[in-house]
Amino acid sequence: MQVTQPGGAPVDPPSAEPGRSADTPAPAGAAAPDVPGDTPAQGTLPAAGPAPATGEIPSLRTARRTGLIDQVIEQLREQIVAGTWPIGGRIPTEAELAQLTGTSRNTVREAVQSLVHAGLLERRQGSGTYVLAASELAGAVSRRVAGAHQHHILEVRRALEVGAARLAAQRRTTEDVARMRELIDARNAAAERGDLTGVARNDFALHRAIGQAAHNPVLNELYEHFLDAVYDSILHSTLRGRAQNPGEHVGLVEAISDHDGDRAASEAACDLDHVLQVEGRDGEESPGTAGHGAPG
Ligand SMILES: [Zn+2]
Repeated sequence: MQVTQPGGAPVDPPSAEPGRSADTPAPAGAAAPDVPGDTPAQGTLPAAGPAPATGEIPSLRTARRTGLIDQVIEQLREQIVAGTWPIGGRIPTEAELAQLTGTSRNTVREAVQSLVHAGLLERRQGSGTYVLAASELAGAVSRRVAGAHQHHILEVRRALEVGAARLAAQRRTTEDVARMRELIDARNAAAERGDLTGVARNDFALHRAIGQAAHNPVLNELYEHFLDAVYDSILHSTLRGRAQNPGEHVGLVEAISDHDGDRAASEAACDLDHVLQVEGRDGEESPGTAGHGAPG
């Protein structure tokens, strides 16, 4: 843990965080410039540790001296990335944040504003500030694909989901398959009730479960960042009468269960090609509804 004494050099070695290991602390007593980028100036705080399991707001290290706003931004970001402040949740008030970070309300306001611009936070008039996305990438993907053509979103889904299906067939656990079957049952039950949103929600959860069953953190990261668009794409198809067939994706899940990567990939490709065909027939010019957000 890097702790800087007032006017002194850091007591502990610099953090071993990737990209920061080569950083040299400012010499003792030197005026530390407020350098942008990842060179911590003297007084830079260590990143917050993992979120405590208690759900309490961890005490944020008191920020002082240089680059205060940047430090507060990083502290707030840590809470968001760790899930201490979950997506959709309200973050502490400006006054609380000022106290937690040991900075002024002005500093906190600017830090929050910066995260609003980055798409991680959203201010709601008269209600507070909420977490919108867990990362710049997720926020950026949601914004960038908002209004994209369904066809383009479906093509990207196809690219990601066919690969995910193949990997899932290799790596799925027994629990992964059980979860997929549960979701198919839940989707079919929703279809019987005529609950189209329930159909979409369970179908979405099934696609997400298959993505997770690939057990590839990079693929998962990409797919998770794309989830808003996936949900909107599924909802769009469902409301047009797609995906209410009780056999939908059953072959895909069985292929994954059988460890048959080729069959899983071809089932996933077929399912999406069918949607692409339908969209091509009746929705070529209709922009997507991406960006409205997936349900929790
Ligand atoms: Zn589906």
